Amino acid sequence: MKNKVAVHWFRQDLRVKDNPSLNYLSKKYENIIGLFVFDDVNRDPRLGSASKVWLCESLKHLNEQLNGNLILLKGDPQECLEEILNFFDVEEVSWNRCYEPWVIKRDKKIKSNISEKIKVSSFNGSLLWEPWEILKDDNTPYKVFTPFYKRGCLSKKAPRNPETSKINFFNHNFRSTNICDLQLLQNKEWESQTLKIWQVGEAQAEKIMKNFLEEGIKDYSDGRNFPKKKNVSRLSPFLHWGQISPNTIWYALSKVNDVGEENIEVFKSELGWREFAYYLNYHFPYLQKENLKKNFDNFKWKNDEISFQRWTKGETGIPIVDAGMRELYQTGYMHNRSRMIVGSFLVKNLLIHWKKGEEWFWDCLFDADAASNSASWQWIAGTGTDSTPYFRIFNPVTQGQKFDPEGQYIKKFVPELNDMPIKYLFSPWECPENIQNEINFKLGVNYPNPIVDLKESRKRALLTYEILRRENSK
Ligand SMILES: Cc1cc2nc3c(=O)[nH]c(=O)nc-3n(C[C@H](O)[C@H](O)[C@H](O)COP(=O)(O)OP(=O)(O)OC[C@H]3O[C@@H](n4cnc5c(N)ncnc54)[C@H](O)[C@@H]3O)c2cc1C
Repeated sequence: MKNKVAVHWFRQDLRVKDNPSLNYLSKKYENIIGLFVFDDVNRDPRLGSASKVWLCESLKHLNEQLNGNLILLKGDPQECLEEILNFFDVEEVSWNRCYEPWVIKRDKKIKSNISEKIKVSSFNGSLLWEPWEILKDDNTPYKVFTPFYKRGCLSKKAPRNPETSKINFFNHNFRSTNICDLQLLQNKEWESQTLKIWQVGEAQAEKIMKNFLEEGIKDYSDGRNFPKKKNVSRLSPFLHWGQISPNTIWYALSKVNDVGEENIEVFKSELGWREFAYYLNYHFPYLQKENLKKNFDNFKWKNDEISFQRWTKGETGIPIVDAGMRELYQTGYMHNRSRMIVGSFLVKNLLIHWKKGEEWFWDCLFDADAASNSASWQWIAGTGTDSTPYFRIFNPVTQGQKFDPEGQYIKKFVPELNDMPIKYLFSPWECPENIQNEINFKLGVNYPNPIVDLKESRKRALLTYEILRRENSK
């Protein structure tokens, strides 16, 4: 069967190692064409600004890995594939599956159209378990994480072992769009600033994983709660774009010694949360757009654009919230603890719709992921299937005291508070005037007054959620 040409269509699997579609093709064909299509026709929603930056850098790396042979096109993938099929003598087209509803719809259509002319194959390259394989005894999907993960996933066949084949990418003379012509970048200072903090690409993902498994994992179970500690992997953007497979990480964890079983199990369960988010998005394809709990459709969200803008800019006057929001804007990433704090503050203390937060994160996060982002926002808002209870409202002052006890995280992103004594760092509005004078600081001038009273807004949230609960129990 050798000497035939096959096309691998790269999508959210921007890697060469442990790539099931590439492995499959490499066993059958001598030469493989690597294709990436920037689909600006079907995509829903549009890519966020940070995702575009990440994608642009990633494509440069991938093209280098393919010795400049990546075919890069822009437009409707159906038309792009047709063009390739007309140009080359292609025997087979293959890809790794994606799970966003708009992609499933598009791929089904393409598969049915081109499989009339040519063999089309697809593989699981981004999940440990396929969403349709995990169902309850009554054949309905799980809605709660723990039974999904423990009874559903862990009792199934173990995830696929990672595998890497030698692949020859075809040295072609077909037209390819220049990466710059995809117009992913807008030449904003923000783009170059955030990228200084990150290195992108498959090799980098592997390096980060190795460092994490040598250092970060040791105290993961506890340390992952502290935004200033180096106990989280920061692999999320790489996982989103498939620059590393979850299988590679899953099996690398099994080879780590002397770091405590609990740390490994907790980390694996975080990968499980990722699976759960994809699972929900597959079984409830309106996850990114609508409340999973329909009774929330009548919830009295507040339309408060001024507070929302202050939240996005990290100018709420609540230090740990502002630190998180500025971390997001300055680095394209936010620690999970901070994501929960700023999210709870938006939907509960400000009573602003989770969708507004989801959209801002979508635009700013390098790891912006339709499934994980929406599932997490719905979890925080209480609108999801397995959500935080409505009465659980994070207190940003005690959260800061507990998880940033020395204030290093706050001071890094809110330097206006550098001289604030630790006693008032988490609630500078309580700092007496004489101390403010001593440190040459004036609340309302150097740093804003809080945009809401934490106690009052907590009461208001509890009441609003309680009204909804009562209305629904009528
Ligand atoms: C409001 C909100 C929005 C979020 N939006 C996203 C998003 O757009 N994209 C995204 O990848 N994650 C999102 N998360 C989940 C989580 O915050 C990030 O995955 C995590 O912070 C990424 O950092 P890390 O790679 O260092 O995580 P680690 O602690 O090192 O975890 C390893 C991996 O497990 C997965 N993971 C960990 N926690 C979660 C979780 N709660 N849900 C789903 N997967 C998880 C990620 O793939 C992560 O890379 C969101 C969480 C919240 C509360």
